[in-house]
Amino acid sequence: MRQVADSGEPAVVTSEGSPAPAVGKALPIAIRRLSKAYGAVSVLDDVDLDVRPGEFLTLLGPSGSGKTTLLMAIAGFLRPDKGSIRFGEREVVRLAPHKREIGMVFQNYALFPHMNVARNVGFPLRLRKVPAPEIARRVEAALEMFQLGGYGGRSITQLSGGQRQRVALARAIVFEPRIILMDEPLSALDKQLRERMQIELRQLHDRLGTTTVYVTHDQREALTMSDRIAVLERGRIAQIDTSRAIYDRPGSRFVAEFIGESSFLDVSVADGVCCAAGSIVRAPKTPVLQGRCVMMLRPERLRILDGSDTEPMNRFEGKVQSAIYQGDTLLLQILLSDGSPVSLRMATRGDDAPPPAAGSPITVGIAVSDTVLLADDGTARA
Ligand code: ADP
Ligand code: MG
Repeated sequence: MRQVADSGEPAVVTSEGSPAPAVGKALPIAIRRLSKAYGAVSVLDDVDLDVRPGEFLTLLGPSGSGKTTLLMAIAGFLRPDKGSIRFGEREVVRLAPHKREIGMVFQNYALFPHMNVARNVGFPLRLRKVPAPEIARRVEAALEMFQLGGYGGRSITQLSGGQRQRVALARAIVFEPRIILMDEPLSALDKQLRERMQIELRQLHDRLGTTTVYVTHDQREALTMSDRIAVLERGRIAQIDTSRAIYDRPGSRFVAEFIGESSFLDVSVADGVCCAAGSIVRAPKTPVLQGRCVMMLRPERLRILDGSDTEPMNRFEGKVQSAIYQGDTLLLQILLSDGSPVSLRMATRGDDAPPPAAGSPITVGIAVSDTVLLADDGTARA
C-alpha cells in the first residue's frame, strides 16, 4: 500500500492504522564509473547504476563480489578511487556519511549496547539536535511501527535477535531518511523469522516509499523483495532487471546459475540450426552466431510430454534415474539420451499417480517460448 498525498509526499499509515513518521520525497541515486581497488585487486570495476526514486533495488552476488563495498561507497563510509554518486541533483561522493541523510542497517545491527532501546532509536534525532519532546514522540511512533511499543526502557541485551533487528530498523527510519541502505540485515535470523521479515520489510518499503538499496547473497530473498535486482560478479554488474526478467531471461550463464536451479545442455549451432542432446531445438530467437552455446533448463519449466501439448516444444528422450518426493514438489532426475543429466520438478497433489519408476523411458520437453540459449562466454544469444 503506497499512499501519496496531494503534495506528492508519501503519507504513511501502518497496517494497524497508527500514524508513522512521514518520509521526505524519495531520491534517485545515480552512480557513474565507480571504481575501487585494494592494491592490484579491483573490487568495484567501473560500476554504473541508477536506482529510481522509491525503488527497492537489491544488490545480489556471491561472497566477495563487492556488494558491501558498493553499499559503503553509497553510505559514505568508503571513498572510491574514482567515479560519481549523485542523490538527486547533488554530488555526494565527497560528502561525509552523516551529511548524506541515509538510514543504514548493518548485518550485525551495530546497536549501542550501553543505551536502552529508546536511546538507540533516538540517537539519529539527538545527533540532529531535534527537541526532546519531539524525539520522544517520534521514537515511540517508530517503535510502534515495528511492534516494539512499550519496549523503549528495555536494555538491548534483553532482546531477541528478531527484536534487535527491529530496533536497528526503527533507528534507520526514525529521522525520515530519503534513502535506506541495508546490508544483509536478516542473515542472523533463523529461516522462519527471516522469511516473515522479508515480507514485512517489503511492506514497510511500500508504506514509506523510500528509495532502498538492499544487499543479500540469497537469491530467493532478492526475488521475494525487490523491484529490481542488480547481480554483481567480481565488482561488475552482470545484469540489472526485475526479478521476473532476471529469472526468466538471464543474460549470462553466471546469472542463470546464481539465480534459481537450472540444468544446462551443450548446444551446437551450424547454419542457424541448434542441436542439443540429440534433438533439434528452437528458441524465441535462434542464435545467429556459429559455434557453441548452452541451453538453460529450469526444472519447473521442464514437463513430461504425453503428446497432448499444443504449444511448440523442444523435446528430449531420456531415462528416469530417480524420483524424489519433496512434499510440495516431486523432483525427477533424468538422464537424456546423450547422457546429459537434467532435473524436472512438478507440483504434487493428493491424488497423484505413482511417479515413474527408475529406469523407465521418458519424454520431456520445454516450451520454445521458455527456452533460453546462452553463449558460454557469458553473453545472451536468445
Ligand atoms: P561482498 O559484500 O559481496 O561479500 P565485499 O564488498 O565485502 O564483498 O568485498 C569485495 C572484495 O574486496 C573481497 O574480495 C574482499 O576480500 C575485498 N576487500 C574488501 N574490503 C577490503 C579491504 N579493506 N582490504 C582489502 N580487501 C578488501
Ligand atoms: Mg558483504
